Amino acid sequence: MSACRLRSWGNYPDFPQTPFACHWRSELPDQLASLRAESGSTLPYGMGRSYGDSCLAASDHVLHMRPLDRFISADWSAGILSAEAGVTLEEILAVAIPRGWFLPVTPGTKYVTLGGVIANDVHGKNHHRKGTFGRHVRRFGLLRSDVGRLTCSAVEQPEFFAATIGGLGLTGVIEWAEIQLMRIGASRIRSLTQRFNTLDEFFALSSELDARHEFCVSWIDCSATGSTIGRGIYTAGDFSDEGPLATESPQKRSIPLTPPIPLFNRLSLKVFNEAYWRRAPAARTSADVGYDGFFYPLDAIRHWNRIYGPKGFQQYQCVIPEPEARAGVHALLETIAKSGAGSFLAVLKRCGDIASPGLLSFPLPGTTLALDFPQSAQLEANLFPRLDAIVREAGGRLYPAKDAHMSGEDFRRSYPEWRRIEALRDPALLSRFWQRVTQ
Ligand SMILES: Cc1cc2nc3c(=O)[nH]c(=O)nc-3n(C[C@H](O)[C@H](O)[C@H](O)COP(=O)(O)OP(=O)(O)OC[C@H]3O[C@@H](n4cnc5c(N)ncnc54)[C@H](O)[C@@H]3O)c2cc1C
Repeated sequence: MSACRLRSWGNYPDFPQTPFACHWRSELPDQLASLRAESGSTLPYGMGRSYGDSCLAASDHVLHMRPLDRFISADWSAGILSAEAGVTLEEILAVAIPRGWFLPVTPGTKYVTLGGVIANDVHGKNHHRKGTFGRHVRRFGLLRSDVGRLTCSAVEQPEFFAATIGGLGLTGVIEWAEIQLMRIGASRIRSLTQRFNTLDEFFALSSELDARHEFCVSWIDCSATGSTIGRGIYTAGDFSDEGPLATESPQKRSIPLTPPIPLFNRLSLKVFNEAYWRRAPAARTSADVGYDGFFYPLDAIRHWNRIYGPKGFQQYQCVIPEPEARAGVHALLETIAKSGAGSFLAVLKRCGDIASPGLLSFPLPGTTLALDFPQSAQLEANLFPRLDAIVREAGGRLYPAKDAHMSGEDFRRSYPEWRRIEALRDPALLSRFWQRVTQ
């Protein structure tokens, strides 16, 4: 046991976790059994980059998987890599890029573990082309407290395979995983940027350009009101065909400590968003950029989550299915702008229709909106109920990996497969999220 306590990325809700570090796969069965005996239940924990309470154990005692960080095997002619579950995406990129391979799907941070990205079945800027991370998982080793070790794939233990991808760490401990990487010719990105003035312009740009590019995402000015609602900056990109295959380690800055109050307010948010939008070129512009800044801009500022102060923050990420997407996103942005809350980082992205093998995967064909809010009692009293009603009405759903407030009713309605996960849940594993939304 370590003296330091772990939290989730949003620092909310505040349930510090006591970590039990896993260093050797051979020790895991005993560790799992003893944690169950001593604490009732536990939960695997990777880098804690989930925002809310899905990575917090109901017992507040977690199995810290990060020290399980060894590579097991690699076939560099086929891009097939096998590694322990605590290996991070950063560590995978360090060995894969020089050999001409990249992650098939990556979230907006590389400081996440292989086990964590499978358990949340993460999506990236290429969901419309590659679906979620789970589609690129060939096999994994799952340790259960009741039946021991299983090897799971689409054909071996297929039920556990489907339940564990996006299974929120509840169906067993992923000990290792074998994944299929994506071939790249060079590590730099040819990117395209274009500012848009309205939500209709976003949908037009996305319809024109998403199909032509591997990676697409938009920043949205969440403080814009009236006719400017939905304005933002569209970015697309593709790996270059020629150039170096080189890992990048840009210089990092750090927020050294948590300030007593959040570092921004309603006025600075509006001023920043206005200036950021105006800085982007109005005409379509191309550039050759490094992959690190393109995929992981926030990783350049260590501990950026501290800017929200000691109360932390919540991310609101929802997906609105296609036919309702425009009206639903407009209603959400209007409500957020009126509230004066919101963040510098509001992200809009259209998801494709490639189905995940996982039962609880978040994306749906439609549009996803994600933004951060400094924690305040007002969120759950006023703003979130109004946003939730819009999402519910449009047949959408919220992302458990980012959630700290969704009602059990909304979760069970929008993830009808939750009962199958509950039936396959390892009796030794329980999260605060699962307890909140299912019990
Ligand atoms: C800046 C930033 C950008 C992000 N961008 C995106 C994005 O674009 N798309 C997206 O989908 N997500 C995104 N996320 C969320 C993040 O990718 C996911 O929450 C990811 O799963 C976190 O991985 P982790 O290793 O930190 O896992 P944790 O947060 O520690 O845990 C996540 C879940 O995995 C389970 N788990 C961890 N290890 C294991 C294991 N070995 N076996 C079984 N279960 C395990 C945990 O129990 C928990 O349920 C972002 C997060 C941040 C901070």
